Amino acid sequence: MYLEIYNRSEKTPPSKELQEIFNRGILFEKNVRNSLFQVGVNVKEKVQDFSYFNSFTIYLLGLPEQKVIFEATIIEDLVFVMCDILVQNEDNTNDIYEIKSSTNINDAILADLSVQYAICKKRFQTNLKSFNLVLRKDTADFGFEIINLTEDLDKKIDTVNDKINEFKRVLKDSEPQITMGEHCQKPYECEFKTYCTKNIKN
Ligand code: SF4
Repeated sequence: MYLEIYNRSEKTPPSKELQEIFNRGILFEKNVRNSLFQVGVNVKEKVQDFSYFNSFTIYLLGLPEQKVIFEATIIEDLVFVMCDILVQNEDNTNDIYEIKSSTNINDAILADLSVQYAICKKRFQTNLKSFNLVLRKDTADFGFEIINLTEDLDKKIDTVNDKINEFKRVLKDSEPQITMGEHCQKPYECEFKTYCTKNIKN
């Protein structure tokens, strides 16, 4: 996280194989969107300039009609999250869908969703009706299943808020000196491995 914010140029671009995995994920996400909601406004495609994603989302949410927003962008407590699909219903309640091209829930997915949920809850409060995970089914036809995780994620809010405060303290300090190890590979290979490897003090 520290390097992502202060030293992003040190990231290693994804390998061809990794890029192919990303591309499959993007295709799966597109397929889920088309299957669930044929019509929606895609914030990323409409605005393009990253710095306006949040304000454009606020603008869309303020429009009176029922709406479906793709890549809805929420900033609360200085934390930025993007929701794959956000549906604002006629009664002003919201349903959120996060799409993962994985066939099962793992710790990385749960950690990601916990932060997204806590930030969305801060924004929508009691109007956040459901927070759903869309997982790929291991079939050739791009099948998927929807799991409502609202209750589970709600129990993690306090833990997430503690983490957010801890991360803010880390970001105010100098670069943390962390020994390389298993965490550099799991759940994914870290994009800063080259940077950290060349900075190991012998
Ligand atoms: S390579 Fe390892 S130590 Fe370096 S930033 Fe990534 S996870 Fe942290």
